[in-house]
Amino acid sequence: MTTRQVVDQSLPKPNILRAEDNPVNHLLAQKLLQKLGQLVTAANNGREALQLWEQNQSRQFDIILMDLQMPEMDGLQASARLREQELATGAHIPIIAVTAHAIKGDRERCLAAGMDGYLTKPINPGELAATILAAFPAVLKLPADAVDALSEAPSDAELLARFDGDGEILKELAGIFLQECPRMLDEIREALRTRDPKLLKRAAHTRKGSVGNFAMSGQRETAQRLESLAKSGELFGAEDIFHALEQQVAPFNQILARHAAEPAHQPR
Ligand code: MN
Repeated sequence: MTTRQVVDQSLPKPNILRAEDNPVNHLLAQKLLQKLGQLVTAANNGREALQLWEQNQSRQFDIILMDLQMPEMDGLQASARLREQELATGAHIPIIAVTAHAIKGDRERCLAAGMDGYLTKPINPGELAATILAAFPAVLKLPADAVDALSEAPSDAELLARFDGDGEILKELAGIFLQECPRMLDEIREALRTRDPKLLKRAAHTRKGSVGNFAMSGQRETAQRLESLAKSGELFGAEDIFHALEQQVAPFNQILARHAAEPAHQPR
Protein backbone atom coordinates (compact mmCIF):
# COMPACT_ATOMS: atom_id res chain seq x y z
CA MET A 1 0.00 0.00 0.00
CA THR A 2 1.29 3.45 -0.83
CA THR A 3 1.08 6.47 1.43
CA ARG A 4 -1.35 8.08 -0.97
CA GLN A 5 -3.78 5.19 -0.65
CA VAL A 6 -4.21 5.39 3.08
CA VAL A 7 -4.10 9.14 3.58
CA ASP A 8 -7.42 10.88 3.52
CA GLN A 9 -6.55 14.40 2.46
CA SER A 10 -9.74 15.73 4.02
CA LEU A 11 -8.62 14.81 7.54
CA PRO A 12 -6.80 17.37 9.66
CA LYS A 13 -3.04 16.90 9.52
CA PRO A 14 -0.89 16.61 12.60
CA ASN A 15 2.22 18.62 13.48
CA ILE A 16 4.93 16.00 13.55
CA LEU A 17 8.18 16.08 15.49
CA ARG A 18 10.70 13.63 14.14
CA ALA A 19 13.91 12.64 15.92
CA GLU A 20 16.52 10.78 13.86
CA ASP A 21 20.32 10.93 13.79
CA ASN A 22 20.96 9.35 10.38
CA PRO A 23 20.79 12.05 7.66
CA VAL A 24 19.74 9.64 4.91
CA ASN A 25 16.97 8.12 6.99
CA HIS A 26 16.01 11.61 7.98
CA LEU A 27 15.57 12.79 4.41
CA LEU A 28 13.56 9.74 3.38
CA ALA A 29 11.26 9.97 6.40
CA GLN A 30 10.90 13.69 5.81
CA LYS A 31 9.63 13.10 2.26
CA LEU A 32 7.11 10.53 3.43
CA LEU A 33 6.02 12.54 6.44
CA GLN A 34 5.46 15.76 4.56
CA LYS A 35 2.57 14.05 2.80
CA LEU A 36 1.07 13.15 6.15
CA GLY A 37 1.72 16.15 8.34
CA GLN A 38 1.15 19.82 7.91
CA LEU A 39 4.41 20.53 9.63
CA VAL A 40 7.39 18.26 10.15
CA THR A 41 10.07 19.44 12.54
CA ALA A 42 13.41 17.64 12.66
CA ALA A 43 15.59 16.87 15.66
CA ASN A 44 18.99 15.17 15.40
CA ASN A 45 18.87 13.40 18.73
CA GLY A 46 16.70 12.84 21.78
CA ARG A 47 17.96 15.92 23.61
CA GLU A 48 17.02 18.17 20.70
CA ALA A 49 13.63 16.51 20.43
CA LEU A 50 12.98 17.11 24.10
CA GLN A 51 14.05 20.76 23.81
CA LEU A 52 11.86 21.35 20.75
CA TRP A 53 8.91 19.77 22.51
CA GLU A 54 9.50 21.96 25.60
CA GLN A 55 9.73 25.12 23.48
CA ASN A 56 6.56 24.22 21.64
CA GLN A 57 4.10 23.88 24.46
CA SER A 58 2.05 26.76 23.08
CA ARG A 59 1.93 25.34 19.54
CA GLN A 60 1.87 21.76 20.65
CA PHE A 61 3.13 18.99 18.40
CA ASP A 62 0.54 16.31 17.77
CA ILE A 63 2.81 13.33 17.44
CA ILE A 64 6.47 12.41 17.86
CA LEU A 65 8.34 9.85 15.77
CA MET A 66 11.34 8.82 17.80
CA ASP A 67 14.37 6.89 16.60
CA LEU A 68 15.67 4.65 19.37
CA GLN A 69 19.44 4.76 18.88
CA MET A 70 20.72 8.33 18.83
CA PRO A 71 23.76 10.12 20.29
CA GLU A 72 23.48 12.57 23.24
CA MET A 73 20.17 11.12 24.38
CA ASP A 74 18.49 8.05 22.98
CA GLY A 75 14.81 7.69 22.17
CA LEU A 76 13.93 5.75 25.30
CA GLN A 77 15.52 8.32 27.61
CA ALA A 78 13.95 11.25 25.79
CA SER A 79 10.51 9.63 25.92
CA ALA A 80 10.79 8.79 29.60
CA ARG A 81 11.81 12.40 30.45
CA LEU A 82 9.01 13.83 28.34
CA ARG A 83 6.46 11.61 30.07
CA GLU A 84 7.79 12.75 33.45
CA GLN A 85 7.19 16.37 32.47
CA GLU A 86 3.72 15.57 31.20
CA LEU A 87 2.72 14.36 34.65
CA ALA A 88 2.39 18.00 35.67
CA THR A 89 -0.23 18.75 33.00
CA GLY A 90 -1.86 15.38 32.40
CA ALA A 91 -1.20 15.75 28.67
CA HIS A 92 -0.18 12.82 26.51
CA ILE A 93 1.46 13.23 23.13
CA PRO A 94 1.63 10.03 21.08
CA ILE A 95 5.23 8.86 20.65
CA ILE A 96 5.98 6.29 17.97
CA ALA A 97 9.28 4.45 18.27
CA VAL A 98 11.23 3.88 15.08
CA THR A 99 13.93 1.27 15.24
CA ALA A 100 16.40 -0.31 12.83
CA HIS A 101 15.91 -3.88 13.93
CA ALA A 102 13.14 -5.47 15.86
CA ILE A 103 15.10 -6.83 18.78
CA LYS A 104 13.07 -9.12 20.98
CA GLY A 105 11.85 -7.08 23.90
CA ASP A 106 12.31 -3.75 22.10
CA ARG A 107 8.62 -3.18 21.89
CA GLU A 108 8.19 -3.86 25.61
CA ARG A 109 11.05 -1.47 26.44
CA CYS A 110 9.42 1.22 24.31
CA LEU A 111 6.07 0.82 26.00
CA ALA A 112 7.76 0.83 29.40
CA ALA A 113 9.41 4.15 28.50
CA GLY A 114 5.96 5.56 27.79
CA MET A 115 5.95 5.22 24.01
CA ASP A 116 2.67 4.36 22.32
CA GLY A 117 3.62 2.57 19.13
CA TYR A 118 6.39 0.94 17.23
CA LEU A 119 7.65 1.05 13.64
CA THR A 120 10.64 -0.78 12.16
CA LYS A 121 13.08 0.61 9.60
CA PRO A 122 13.22 0.65 6.67
CA ILE A 123 9.98 2.55 7.02
CA ASN A 124 7.13 1.13 4.99
CA PRO A 125 5.07 4.09 3.74
CA GLY A 126 1.75 2.30 4.21
CA GLU A 127 2.58 1.27 7.74
CA LEU A 128 3.81 4.74 8.57
CA ALA A 129 0.61 6.31 7.31
CA ALA A 130 -1.58 3.76 9.07
CA THR A 131 0.31 4.28 12.34
CA ILE A 132 0.01 8.04 12.17
CA LEU A 133 -3.65 7.86 11.23
CA ALA A 134 -4.27 5.54 14.15
CA ALA A 135 -2.40 7.82 16.54
CA PHE A 136 -3.93 11.07 15.41
CA PRO A 137 -6.15 12.20 16.85
CA ALA A 138 -7.41 8.93 18.30
CA VAL A 139 -4.91 8.52 21.12
CA LEU A 140 -4.02 12.15 21.59
CA LYS A 141 -5.41 12.56 25.06
CA LEU A 142 -5.51 9.00 26.33
CA PRO A 143 -3.58 8.20 29.50
CA ALA A 144 -0.44 6.15 28.94
CA ASP A 145 -1.83 2.96 30.40
CA ALA A 146 -4.81 3.03 28.05
CA VAL A 147 -2.73 3.28 24.94
CA ASP A 148 -2.03 0.14 23.05
CA ALA A 149 -4.27 1.16 20.22
CA LEU A 150 -1.45 1.48 17.76
CA SER A 151 -0.11 -1.99 17.96
CA GLU A 152 -3.65 -3.34 17.89
CA ALA A 153 -2.67 -6.13 20.20
CA PRO A 154 -4.51 -6.43 23.50
CA SER A 155 -3.07 -8.95 25.92
CA ASP A 156 -5.05 -12.08 26.72
CA ALA A 157 -5.84 -10.53 30.10
CA GLU A 158 -7.28 -7.41 28.47
CA LEU A 159 -9.37 -9.51 26.13
CA LEU A 160 -10.61 -11.73 28.93
CA ALA A 161 -11.48 -8.69 31.01
CA ARG A 162 -13.94 -7.69 28.29
CA PHE A 163 -15.80 -10.91 28.97
CA ASP A 164 -15.76 -10.75 32.72
CA GLY A 165 -12.81 -13.13 32.80
CA ASP A 166 -14.89 -15.89 31.26
CA GLY A 167 -12.79 -17.84 28.73
CA GLU A 168 -15.81 -19.78 27.49
CA ILE A 169 -17.66 -16.66 26.45
CA LEU A 170 -14.53 -15.24 24.82
CA LYS A 171 -14.02 -18.50 22.91
CA GLU A 172 -17.61 -18.59 21.72
CA LEU A 173 -17.78 -14.93 20.71
CA ALA A 174 -14.37 -15.01 19.02
CA GLY A 175 -15.71 -17.86 16.88
CA ILE A 176 -18.87 -15.97 16.00
CA PHE A 177 -16.89 -12.82 15.22
CA LEU A 178 -14.57 -14.70 12.86
CA GLN A 179 -17.55 -16.25 11.12
CA GLU A 180 -19.23 -12.87 10.70
CA CYS A 181 -16.08 -10.93 9.82
CA PRO A 182 -16.00 -11.52 6.03
CA ARG A 183 -19.66 -10.61 5.72
CA MET A 184 -19.16 -7.40 7.71
CA LEU A 185 -16.29 -6.34 5.46
CA ASP A 186 -18.25 -7.32 2.33
CA GLU A 187 -21.08 -5.08 3.44
CA ILE A 188 -18.70 -2.13 3.68
CA ARG A 189 -17.24 -2.98 0.26
CA GLU A 190 -20.74 -3.12 -1.20
CA ALA A 191 -21.58 0.28 0.30
CA LEU A 192 -18.43 1.77 -1.19
CA ARG A 193 -19.08 0.15 -4.58
CA THR A 194 -22.62 1.49 -4.74
CA ARG A 195 -21.68 4.82 -3.13
CA ASP A 196 -24.40 4.34 -0.55
CA PRO A 197 -23.79 6.50 2.56
CA LYS A 198 -26.73 4.97 4.43
CA LEU A 199 -25.49 1.44 3.98
CA LEU A 200 -21.93 2.53 4.73
CA LYS A 201 -23.03 4.21 7.92
CA ARG A 202 -24.83 1.08 9.07
CA ALA A 203 -22.06 -1.31 8.03
CA ALA A 204 -19.33 0.81 9.64
CA HIS A 205 -21.41 1.14 12.77
CA THR A 206 -21.83 -2.64 12.99
CA ARG A 207 -18.12 -3.13 12.49
CA LYS A 208 -17.32 -0.55 15.14
CA GLY A 209 -19.53 -2.25 17.69
CA SER A 210 -18.20 -5.70 16.94
CA VAL A 211 -14.51 -4.87 17.15
CA GLY A 212 -15.12 -2.72 20.21
CA ASN A 213 -16.14 -5.85 22.09
CA PHE A 214 -12.67 -7.26 21.63
CA ALA A 215 -10.63 -4.26 22.75
CA MET A 216 -9.52 -3.57 19.17
CA SER A 217 -9.28 0.16 19.71
CA GLY A 218 -7.39 0.87 16.48
CA GLN A 219 -9.99 -0.86 14.32
CA ARG A 220 -12.75 0.73 16.33
CA GLU A 221 -11.31 4.18 15.63
CA THR A 222 -11.02 3.44 11.93
CA ALA A 223 -14.60 2.16 11.73
CA GLN A 224 -15.71 5.22 13.66
CA ARG A 225 -13.99 7.46 11.14
CA LEU A 226 -15.77 5.65 8.32
CA GLU A 227 -19.12 5.98 10.08
CA SER A 228 -18.65 9.72 10.68
CA LEU A 229 -17.74 10.24 7.06
CA ALA A 230 -20.82 8.30 5.91
CA LYS A 231 -23.00 10.37 8.23
CA SER A 232 -21.83 13.50 6.45
CA GLY A 233 -23.11 11.95 3.21
CA GLU A 234 -19.82 12.76 1.49
CA LEU A 235 -17.85 9.60 0.70
CA PHE A 236 -14.65 11.22 -0.50
CA GLY A 237 -11.72 9.40 1.08
CA ALA A 238 -13.85 6.51 2.33
CA GLU A 239 -11.92 3.92 0.31
CA ASP A 240 -8.67 5.05 1.86
CA ILE A 241 -10.04 4.66 5.35
CA PHE A 242 -11.38 1.24 4.46
CA HIS A 243 -7.94 0.21 3.16
CA ALA A 244 -6.49 1.22 6.52
CA LEU A 245 -9.15 -0.88 8.23
CA GLU A 246 -8.38 -3.89 6.05
CA GLN A 247 -4.74 -3.68 7.10
CA GLN A 248 -5.76 -3.94 10.72
CA VAL A 249 -7.86 -7.06 10.31
CA ALA A 250 -5.46 -9.97 9.82
CA PRO A 251 -3.25 -9.66 12.92
CA PHE A 252 -6.33 -9.34 15.05
CA ASN A 253 -8.17 -12.21 13.57
CA GLN A 254 -5.14 -14.38 14.25
CA ILE A 255 -5.37 -13.57 17.94
CA LEU A 256 -9.09 -14.30 17.96
CA ALA A 257 -8.58 -17.53 16.02
CA ARG A 258 -6.26 -18.71 18.78
CA HIS A 259 -8.93 -18.00 21.39
CA ALA A 260 -11.66 -19.58 19.30
CA ALA A 261 -9.57 -22.76 19.08
CA GLU A 262 -8.95 -23.05 22.84
CA PRO A 263 -9.94 -26.46 24.19
CA ALA A 264 -13.25 -26.45 26.01
CA HIS A 265 -13.03 -25.58 29.68
CA GLN A 266 -13.97 -28.29 32.16
CA PRO A 267 -17.43 -27.81 33.62
CA ARG A 268 -17.22 -26.56 37.21
MN1 MN B 1 19.68 6.16 15.02
